[in-house]
Amino acid sequence: MKFELDDYRRNITERQLIEDLIIVAKKLNKISMTHDEYNSNGKYGSTTYLRRFGSWFKALEKAGLQKTRNPANISEEDLFKNLEEVWIKLGRQPKYGEVHNPLSKYHVGTYEKRFGNWRKALEKFVSYINGEEDVSSEESIKSLEPQKKSRHNTKRGINERLRFIVMKRDNFKCKSCGRSPATDMNIILHVDHIKAWANGGETVFENLQTLCSKCNIGKSDLE
Ligand SMILES: [Zn+2]
Repeated sequence: MKFELDDYRRNITERQLIEDLIIVAKKLNKISMTHDEYNSNGKYGSTTYLRRFGSWFKALEKAGLQKTRNPANISEEDLFKNLEEVWIKLGRQPKYGEVHNPLSKYHVGTYEKRFGNWRKALEKFVSYINGEEDVSSEESIKSLEPQKKSRHNTKRGINERLRFIVMKRDNFKCKSCGRSPATDMNIILHVDHIKAWANGGETVFENLQTLCSKCNIGKSDLE
């Protein structure tokens, strides 16, 4: 018989490991857990889970728990982009109690931790949206140096902020058929050039409109 050290972890079954994850999650009253949280409360070490399941996420998944994300690693831009998505889906300013799964990727607590409180998070979001350079009218771009190689003064791509401002002006509804994600979850809104970019239309507030994907597809054939 080959001589080797006993690995006492070897006798722990996958089921025992999973069960302990669930026990600790219940004890902490959480739907997810970090390594640290488990290590300070669990029977085994998180490295045992890594070895057995390949990753911490896979272990959480097997236990029916949610994947953790260290909130400190989420960028402000990601938080704002998510908030924008939620706002568009609701067609209005999100309320405190609405900011959680599945409507919102990040929990309201993440916003509170980052910005102090929910109101401050909303205020920061507003300045993020308003922080864009002035592309709000045809007038404002006339002062820009015309690019010789291009017949456009603006880029074709519509950035997040401008997209949001246009949707807000259009009340988060399709300008063509009037449908909105707030009343029909299947509706996806896009921002579209009224005068097609290919025909010299600029990416400015007044040349943009909100369309649902169906109406947008119908229109893009013409571009
Ligand atoms: Zn439509």
